[in-house]
Amino acid sequence: MGKYVWNGERLLNRAEASVDVEDRGHTFGDGIYEVFRVYGGKTFEPELHWARFERSARELRIELPLPIAELERGVEELIEADGLAEGIVYLQLTRGAAPRAHPFPAEARPALTAFAKPLERPLSALESGTSVITRPDIRWLRCDIKSLNLLPNVLAKQEASEAGASEAVLHRDGVVTEGSSSNIAIAKDGVVRTHPANNLILHGVTRAVALRLAAELDIRVNEEPFTLDELYAADEAFLLGTTVEVMPIVRVDGRTVANGVPGPIARKLQAAFAKRI
Ligand code: PMP
Repeated sequence: MGKYVWNGERLLNRAEASVDVEDRGHTFGDGIYEVFRVYGGKTFEPELHWARFERSARELRIELPLPIAELERGVEELIEADGLAEGIVYLQLTRGAAPRAHPFPAEARPALTAFAKPLERPLSALESGTSVITRPDIRWLRCDIKSLNLLPNVLAKQEASEAGASEAVLHRDGVVTEGSSSNIAIAKDGVVRTHPANNLILHGVTRAVALRLAAELDIRVNEEPFTLDELYAADEAFLLGTTVEVMPIVRVDGRTVANGVPGPIARKLQAAFAKRI
């Protein structure tokens, strides 16, 4: 955890930063967030993150407290003040503090908080691959909004941890949507498949970057849903996310994916991704 918290106005020492107990993020989960990856002291793909942040705010009708350019400057100042080279910045915006009642409060001012945290790249897992489990996707129908309401994700991730896996891959009636905190793609006969960026998944920045890299590498991509059976029978599978990057999946529900080692498409995407970093 970094030393500072940015509240949209100034940098505070973490010990001095506070949140109102009736902040609507606290009482209703009424807010949005972003997690930016920082490599070499710079945010990775900031335009895609800011575009998503702006869109999430618009969809929930939360007003941005500052123009994006100023938010961006604040995040840069936070990174600099914390001396962060490699890590993440967590940025949250809630509808603000007001006496607890469900309708939007007339008076509340949106409340911004941001902090930085050092985090190393998961190099050994990127090399050897990871294990996942599958769980029903019990979330609402606006998973494209990066809202604070993450209980189904938290419960699924906890089950994954308890099963010795790193991620829970979610499915609706056998159709795979995404991970609890990542997107997922499979490869079969040289073609990559991943759920379309509709209301049922978060439109991941890493997913977007991976699709761009696949196009550059002449790897065919089909943005179509796939089933659990197709996941079990895939030649390759990989998670896509800000902290997991392009993470090969070598086990699903205890069964090995293909021959149980990261495949050639994952390796090509990883190499191209590393170059982007
Ligand atoms: N889906 C969910 C549910 C997530 O929480 C995340 C992580 N933010 C992702 C996908 C991956 O998105 P990104 O690549 O932007 O980190």
